[in-house]
Amino acid sequence: MATLQTQVRAQDVAGGHFDTVIIGSGFGSGFFLHEALKHARSGRVLVLEWGEIRSHSDQWEDGRQSHIAPGSTYDNAGPRPWNFTIGFGGGTNCWFAQTPRFHPSDFQLHTRYGAGRDWPFTYADLEPFYCEAEDVMSISGDEEMARVLPRSRPFPQPPHHPSAPDALLKRARPDLHFVMPTARARQATETRTACCANHRCSLCPVDAKFTANNGLMDVFQNPRVSVCPGAEVTHLNTAAGAVRSVRFKSGGKEYTVHGDLFVLGANAIHSPAILLRSGIDQGPVGKGLHEAYGVEVEVMLDGVDNFGGSTITTGLDYGAYDGAFRGKSGSALLYFENRWKFGFRPEPGKWRQTLPIVIVAEDLPNDDDAVVLGADGGAKVVGGEPGAYALAGAERAFAQLPSILAALPVERIERRLVRPTESHLQGSLRMGNEAGASVVDAQQVHHTLRNLVVVGSSVFPTCSASNPSLTVGAMSIRSARSVLA
Ligand SMILES: Cc1cc2nc3c(=O)[nH]c(=O)nc-3n(C[C@H](O)[C@H](O)[C@H](O)COP(=O)(O)OP(=O)(O)OC[C@H]3O[C@@H](n4cnc5c(N)ncnc54)[C@H](O)[C@@H]3O)c2cc1C
Ligand code: SF4
Repeated sequence: MATLQTQVRAQDVAGGHFDTVIIGSGFGSGFFLHEALKHARSGRVLVLEWGEIRSHSDQWEDGRQSHIAPGSTYDNAGPRPWNFTIGFGGGTNCWFAQTPRFHPSDFQLHTRYGAGRDWPFTYADLEPFYCEAEDVMSISGDEEMARVLPRSRPFPQPPHHPSAPDALLKRARPDLHFVMPTARARQATETRTACCANHRCSLCPVDAKFTANNGLMDVFQNPRVSVCPGAEVTHLNTAAGAVRSVRFKSGGKEYTVHGDLFVLGANAIHSPAILLRSGIDQGPVGKGLHEAYGVEVEVMLDGVDNFGGSTITTGLDYGAYDGAFRGKSGSALLYFENRWKFGFRPEPGKWRQTLPIVIVAEDLPNDDDAVVLGADGGAKVVGGEPGAYALAGAERAFAQLPSILAALPVERIERRLVRPTESHLQGSLRMGNEAGASVVDAQQVHHTLRNLVVVGSSVFPTCSASNPSLTVGAMSIRSARSVLA
């Protein structure tokens, strides 16, 4: 097992006091810490992390990110296998490093289309923080994306090489088809090699994608920080309208640590479970757990070879993303794959003339899909079926494919499978301006307990068809700056 210079044991910190106590070390917590250390007010910081610290080589040796299987940490009474990593770095270990920004309409779904909810800030408010999060992860991207997602700074790295189908579509649809933005390095950095398109991103063999291990160690190893692995936080203790201490289990024993500011980033299942167990149940705590809905399609081409791009997913198409249809059916983002998900074609001369596409459709959160507590006090998920809004969005996008792909020599389009999960759990502690209808405010501060900040995808009020983690990172930087400046 790897160790950090800043690592501490539970017994070393038990009963102690820290200025800031951060729960979890994934995207939400890591990016909050990155910004918090720039502000003297964050003082001495303790990070309590349930899982182990495992280096890239530790993970590579036994082929897994963590020894704690996600399904062993909660009771699932619903149909969907919610997927995450319990371990130092959280989802930075297992993610595929796809990093599109959310679309401006994603933040104003209700105002623009009368569906779902608005976020308590706009794309323009978050835009500078998107740039900062992209810098931290050295995101590679296509400057022409600014036609859909306006940007005030260039991408830190140039775009990956598109596949031949992507290059044709980009030429034919310059306002809608772009090279995939990603934290899979296009160019080597000091801590990461260049992505070489070997397509095993969940545990990248060459350490090309951004992870906490290769991209946030400067903050986790800062002398003001102590990191306590193997610490499963169970409760927040409150008194006189504020959180006073955290209770956690480690090695079969219980410990308490005190603090001034508490940052809860334990993922969209475990963060609400900690609040419910602690009796902190003001607002829709646990309600609205959701994710997008994915369908895989294979397009047979006639005369165009695929798989010449420089990373696993090379294209994004926004032709089914935004419009008045979002009043009734979800937005859909189309991912163009540079990997042979369905094998090669058997016909002579055509073996690479196949294009896998993933249609990812936004869903509307439903309060019946929820994190609750089981009889033993553990986290339990109820519900989780994809909603009619998402199903309609995926159908609409599928029907649009012939026109979206008009610049390609398409032989036929085959629907292949429904993905069991997008691995994007979110929405169970939603943010908003009204206390009764949301759990945290626009700065991610709890409406009642003003020294409690919730970070991570649990605070998303609606879904977006785009991957969540860049937005989580940008929001954490924004939150930390507003709370600590
Ligand atoms: C296979 C896979 C592929 C993915 N690919 C992408 C992608 O390409 N692009 C993208 O944007 N997103 C992707 N994601 C999603 C991404 O991982 C999540 O959106 C992101 O991690 C959410 O950040 P978070 O801070 O909410 O939670 P996490 O990053 O999961 O962090 C939660 C942290 O809290 C810790 N923790 C949990 N409970 C406790 C407790 N009780 N006490 C102490 N610590 C606790 C965990 O160990 C973890 O460190 C992928 C996810 C998976 C599983
Ligand atoms: S495509 Fe290959 S090299 Fe690139 S990030 Fe994924 S696994 Fe790593």
